[in-house]
Amino acid sequence: MIVYRTKNDLTGHLNSVRGDKNSIGLVPTMGALHQGHASLVEKAAAENDVVVVSIFVNPTQFNDPSDLEHYPRTLDRDLEMLQKLEADLVFVPSVQEMYPEEDERKFDLDPLDQVMEGKHRKGHFNGVAQIVSKLFRLILPDRAYFGQKDFQQLVIVRRLTKILNLDIQIVSCPIVREKDGLAMSSRNERLTREERKLAPFIYETLKLASEKKEELSPAKLKDWVRDHFERKPELSLEYFDIVEDKELRPVTDWAEKVNKVGCLAVQLGGVRLIDNMYFD
Ligand code: AMP
Repeated sequence: MIVYRTKNDLTGHLNSVRGDKNSIGLVPTMGALHQGHASLVEKAAAENDVVVVSIFVNPTQFNDPSDLEHYPRTLDRDLEMLQKLEADLVFVPSVQEMYPEEDERKFDLDPLDQVMEGKHRKGHFNGVAQIVSKLFRLILPDRAYFGQKDFQQLVIVRRLTKILNLDIQIVSCPIVREKDGLAMSSRNERLTREERKLAPFIYETLKLASEKKEELSPAKLKDWVRDHFERKPELSLEYFDIVEDKELRPVTDWAEKVNKVGCLAVQLGGVRLIDNMYFD
């Protein structure tokens, strides 16, 4: 495994392997790696000759400066994990390396960035599009791996690939959960012991909601989820939406012939957690 810190060194290496018709798989991350990330790296390793993992806490996608400041950074541990997973190349650039000058690009992600996370985190997806477009153009992978944990991001990255006219296959990977159902996330490390005990309520609620769809309309189910969260005042529900999985349009009738996903964000103490579940 080789760790590169500059674009030049990374592309120099990639250009030499690309010539041999090797396929390249990219796993973009912000570090503080866990089994969720590991599942993406394993899938990438199974499907490509060369696996590149990037670790970069991208400042332009943080709308909350305190969230950026407190984002966990555990590089030594991350590299150890990637070594075991047999990643080939790890790209760990500095902010200066990725943004030598301010990135003023605005991406037209409408309407995908107008709902859910986009509504609550202004500018977040434009920041995601900025960094992902830079990584895609630099690395030109054959495949890029994204988790369903960040479901809206996955849909937006697919759109971005079309906007950029890049021939990159976006591979969607299932959510990896803790034994008690909590979706793995780097942010879970910031929960106190008490908060961590409460957090599985999120997944339990999603499961109950998916069962209740037999008896409740989508609108009534949204009310039910909101009421259910009121039983746990420590968990403050930001939104719960049921959308179809291509354009993120709200689902109003279960009879619609689309794939339906229930998505939510919750504030628990000082930590914001997201989760989702396919309702089909
Ligand atoms: P992050 O480091 O949080 O930006 O995540 C990097 C990638 O890992 C994204 O594509 C995430 O969706 C994915 N990911 C994060 N947590 C999980 C999880 N629990 N299961 C599957 N994929 C995940």
